Parts: sequence; structure tokens; C-alpha cells
Amino acid sequence: MPTPICLACRVEMRCARNNRLVRDPETASFPSTYWLGDEWQCPGCGARIVTGFGRAIQAPPNYAAGEVVEFRYALPAEVKA
Ligand SMILES: [Zn+2]
Repeated sequence: MPTPICLACRVEMRCARNNRLVRDPETASFPSTYWLGDEWQCPGCGARIVTGFGRAIQAPPNYAAGEVVEFRYALPAEVKA
């Protein structure tokens, strides 16, 4: 995985954590899946990203609930009530 660059600061981001667990919630057509990614953080502005989407795993490892990133399909303002 190449090192991401922060567009705002124009510097390389730093890998803050490997194996960040992300939960992809179920939809009408697909069941919920989990995947592991790498978390990167910009040393300038602190922006954080997770890369590696698509490497789905069968069973989630034993993570605390607060450590699981819940993937969203849309921004909260875009979700219809
Ligand atoms: Zn930055």
C-alpha cells in the first residue's frame, strides 16, 4: 500500500494502526461484512483515513465495540429520515 498524502498539508501521512476493524452494515441485498484496514493519520492536521477496503474477513476478531469503525453509505445529512 503506497503512503497516502494529505492534500491539505501536502505531506505523507503516518500509519497510526494496522488491522483497524471496519464493519460494513447490511443492506437489503447484502449481509454485514467486516474488513481490516490500515489507519493513517496526517501529522499536520490530524486527518485520519482507513485504507484497504475490500479485504473482507469471515469472522470479526474480538474487538471492543468502540474500536470498530461503522462504515456509512452516505453522510448523515443525506440519509432520509
Ligand atoms: Zn493534513
